[in-house]
Amino acid sequence: MTRSRIMASIKAKDTKAELAVRRYLHRQGFRYRTNDRRLPGTPDIVLPKYRCVIFVNGCFWHAHQGCAKYVLPKTNRQFWTEKLAKNVERDRRVIAELLALRWRVIVVWECEIASRAVAADTLSGLVNEIYSTEADAASSMRPRCHSSR
Ligand SMILES: [Zn+2]
Repeated sequence: MTRSRIMASIKAKDTKAELAVRRYLHRQGFRYRTNDRRLPGTPDIVLPKYRCVIFVNGCFWHAHQGCAKYVLPKTNRQFWTEKLAKNVERDRRVIAELLALRWRVIVVWECEIASRAVAADTLSGLVNEIYSTEADAASSMRPRCHSSR
């Protein structure tokens, strides 16, 4: 397999973290679409009722700065640096496009739901975010939205 084929297959499948977020939201009574290709960036989770999309980002592939899971491989450093920089750039562009379309964007990092203890906080916080921003779309520029970098 070529590198791009490998990455395409990784990108395509639903990650464990993504499934955990979906299961939780479903239990909380949320209804959503998944991997909606009609929206920029094919968001992992789309909550039409709240005009809110959620990306569940793998820490390596999306270059989670300062995260222990974001460590460049020792070999092919230049390839990875460029590849991941492109991913980050694409993430920024996609989020800007979604915001311009008046969607609200929440990014959940893989490491934020890696352990049960952390996951509980993250997921309840996520639900609060979905509800709280409903009333005030103008306040969508939250730190988690990664819109102010
Ligand atoms: Zn992380």
